[in-house]
Amino acid sequence: MSPGRTRLLLVGAGHVHLEILRRIIVERPRELDATIVSLEERHFYSGMTPGYLAGQYSVDDISSNVPAIARRAGAECVIGCAVRLDPAARTVALQDGRTIPYDLVSLNIGSLLAGSDGPASRHAERIKPLHRAAQLKDRLEVLAVGSRDRAARIVVIGAGAGGVEVACASAAMMDRAGRPREVTIVDRGDRILTGYGKRFQSLAERALEQLGIRRRLGGRVAAVEASRVALEGGDSLPSDLAIWLTGPQGAGLLAASGLPVEPRGFLWTEDTLQSVADPRVFAVGDCGTLKHHPTIAKSGVYAVREAPVLWHNLLATVRCGRLAAYRPQRDFLSILNTADGRALLRYKGFNSWSRWAWRLKDRIDRGFMRKYRRLGEQGAGDR
Ligand SMILES: Cc1cc2nc3c(=O)[nH]c(=O)nc-3n(C[C@H](O)[C@H](O)[C@H](O)COP(=O)(O)OP(=O)(O)OC[C@H]3O[C@@H](n4cnc5c(N)ncnc54)[C@H](O)[C@@H]3O)c2cc1C
Repeated sequence: MSPGRTRLLLVGAGHVHLEILRRIIVERPRELDATIVSLEERHFYSGMTPGYLAGQYSVDDISSNVPAIARRAGAECVIGCAVRLDPAARTVALQDGRTIPYDLVSLNIGSLLAGSDGPASRHAERIKPLHRAAQLKDRLEVLAVGSRDRAARIVVIGAGAGGVEVACASAAMMDRAGRPREVTIVDRGDRILTGYGKRFQSLAERALEQLGIRRRLGGRVAAVEASRVALEGGDSLPSDLAIWLTGPQGAGLLAASGLPVEPRGFLWTEDTLQSVADPRVFAVGDCGTLKHHPTIAKSGVYAVREAPVLWHNLLATVRCGRLAAYRPQRDFLSILNTADGRALLRYKGFNSWSRWAWRLKDRIDRGFMRKYRRLGEQGAGDR
């Protein structure tokens, strides 16, 4: 480290940290020595992941090259899995035994899926961390070329936005290959898309009906076995592929740090995005929960909006300036890809299932990705 410089450790190459690297490229602050720890070389963008599973996008379309962006930012990029945060020693330990010291650390490691480490999910494919989507896509491709005499049976566990999109994507993939399919979404709740409002839920139900996607609501999964999903109460669904897509849960390293976490295991943060117990630790995106706004959804939309506040606050901490507060927006545009050339859109009470909604989503997502892809390309300008 250069004398007088602050060691900034960015753990996880999520939405927020990619933007922090972009700000470093643009502004070149002299005070920071940045290091980023990333699980994989590529960061997958969740908004386009269902489209990738459905064959609408390639890996290049939906992922950013983290080492290349870090290189342009003059940041060190460490590919590895962070397993321990020690706030007293100010270090982060990686699975491979390396330990990285910091002056300031920011966590942007996303979320896991509730129950995904339990026995109920042992045989299920998981999509988090998101690079696992590539493995899921391989499984879907194998299934798609299987015997046409029998339907491919796919069970998606979780009827949230991700579950609905992945069910639609799986169905689309089978349809394109001409493989008959039975796609079922299972959820313990009695409606799909909890928290989305009744009218949008009804529209989404109609869409799933038309697309031939079954729902098994009010059914709690007891176990996922090699060829069936067993439900509590004794019923079961035959399955060639089960996909685990339940609600969000924090990674174990957050609670193990000793810093306060909320019941799902995410770090409690102030409006400044700092841990409530340690101002040197920031937690952004899914892995932090604002103590003044504990109920906002774990959604990439919020992560993206946190980035300018995190950037401001990192610099303010180093320069002994005034920290800014992050104020989450009340509502946001939700667009779910139904993978049939249409999308379900909800915004401020307006609902639509249409081709134009898909075109809008595609334009927004491609625009978002273009920004970071350019940064990873050799010879691109600094702005
Ligand atoms: C199928 C699906 C579709 C979705 N679609 C949308 C959508 O259209 N719009 C939307 O707003 N939200 C969507 N979401 C929600 C969205 O995925 C999350 O809210 C968003 O990704 C959170 O962003 P993040 O920056 O916090 O984390 P992420 O984007 O998940 O990034 C975290 C990064 O940290 C890395 N990481 C994880 N653990 C470690 C570790 N221990 N050490 C080092 N690195 C680590 C991961 O590999 C990943 O690169 C979707 C979710 C799913 C499952």
